Amino acid sequence: MIIVTRAEVTEAEIDGIREHVERCGVRSYLTTTAGRTVIGCLVELDEGEAAAIERLPGVETTAAWRAPYRLASRQLAPPGGRTVIRLGDDPRATVGGRELLVIAGPCSVEERDTLCEAAWGVRRAGAGALRGGAFKPRTSPYAFQGLGEEGLSRLAEVRRETGLPVVTEVLDPRQVETVAEHVDVLQIGARSMQNYPLLCEVGRVRRPVLLKRGLSATITELLLAAEYILACGNADVILCERGIRTFETTTRNTLDVAAIPVLQRETHLPVIVDPSHAAGRADLVPALAYAAVAAGADGLIVEVHPRPEAAWSDGDQALTLDAFADVMRGLRPFVQGAGRTLAGPRLAPGREAAA
Ligand code: PEP
Ligand code: MN
Repeated sequence: MIIVTRAEVTEAEIDGIREHVERCGVRSYLTTTAGRTVIGCLVELDEGEAAAIERLPGVETTAAWRAPYRLASRQLAPPGGRTVIRLGDDPRATVGGRELLVIAGPCSVEERDTLCEAAWGVRRAGAGALRGGAFKPRTSPYAFQGLGEEGLSRLAEVRRETGLPVVTEVLDPRQVETVAEHVDVLQIGARSMQNYPLLCEVGRVRRPVLLKRGLSATITELLLAAEYILACGNADVILCERGIRTFETTTRNTLDVAAIPVLQRETHLPVIVDPSHAAGRADLVPALAYAAVAAGADGLIVEVHPRPEAAWSDGDQALTLDAFADVMRGLRPFVQGAGRTLAGPRLAPGREAAA
């Protein structure tokens, strides 16, 4: 249940309402939406309790939750209506606001030089953050599983060198703290979307979480997975549509374009799209990236590799640095059409020679 307070509600009345709710054994959550203080009761209350609350001083009305998620719901949007998340300490890297965020980089962290080349290349083309997996969730146990902690050190080093915030996947609840010490954003991969102990663990750290939609997860299940993270105390969750499994085999997955406007309606959390894992092939990535932005995505996460044919994982879907720069240019009309802005090429004086 949502409690909407009166425009002239006092602090003491708000405290009184919250105390009443907590006495019913229900956690409450406070926000300001459209100029009104709104109190969200995270568990639904029965009709009798709702009627008693409506009689409390300062209460204007109550409303039922429209969906099973609460903290993720638009009904509990923060002031301004949307959650804007900053990545690391780069004030230019935010998601959920007007500016489109593009995260780019290789599937896996590889040799230090390769990662560095990728980072400088994507930065030059206008990317706002670097991606790269140190712990890889591979379908086959015999496939390359990632460089592990060595990969985290490489990411941290390249982050220091380029100033790009870094996104990497965490697979195991026991590794959350270590991963959070090295990078700016913790990715929960599609295969882990319903690993509830892992969701709770990333809910307890002070790092934004990029939550990818499970291969066969509904939009409601994705939002409930986000709700676990929010309920554990972390308000900074970025949702990612990365394609779902269907009967179609020409693409690795099927990009659910409709999920973008649905999520934008249902939640205040930023919504980004991964065209690379949706397509599974580099030639389709530009079209899917443009479609995502046209449909209202707040950002993209794209796999880019200096030499895709030599990539240690997912080479088929990686863009070359040149192809990525072309996509960034091609995005401009779609970004403009969506009423957004896109950071231009980011040149670091004196560092270009190193790139
Ligand atoms: C990845 O980002 O490299 C990855 C494994 O993605 P997903 O979890 O969406 O398959
Ligand atoms: Mn990948």
